[in-house]
Amino acid sequence: MPAPLADITDLPFGLLTAVRRTGKKRHGRSVWLCDCKCGGTAEVTISALRKGDTRSCGCLRKETGRANLAAGRARKNAR
Ligand SMILES: [Zn+2]
Repeated sequence: MPAPLADITDLPFGLLTAVRRTGKKRHGRSVWLCDCKCGGTAEVTISALRKGDTRSCGCLRKETGRANLAAGRARKNAR
C-alpha cells in the first residue's frame, strides 16, 4: 500500500532542512532536496530523513570518518 505523500517542507532533520520534493524516487520513496547547515545540499529519501539515517549532506559522515581514522592510527601505534 503506497504511503500518502507527506509534506516535510521546512522541517529540520539533523543538519538538513527539507526544501522541496525533487519528484525523483529511490527505492520507491520520494526524494527530497535538502539544505545542509554547512551550506551544502543533499538529495535524500523521505524515509532516510524520518528514520534519522541521513542527517547531513555528508559533512557529518566525513567528521566521523576522520575520527575513525585517528582511532585506527592510535591503535596501530600502541602495538
Ligand atoms: Zn553538510
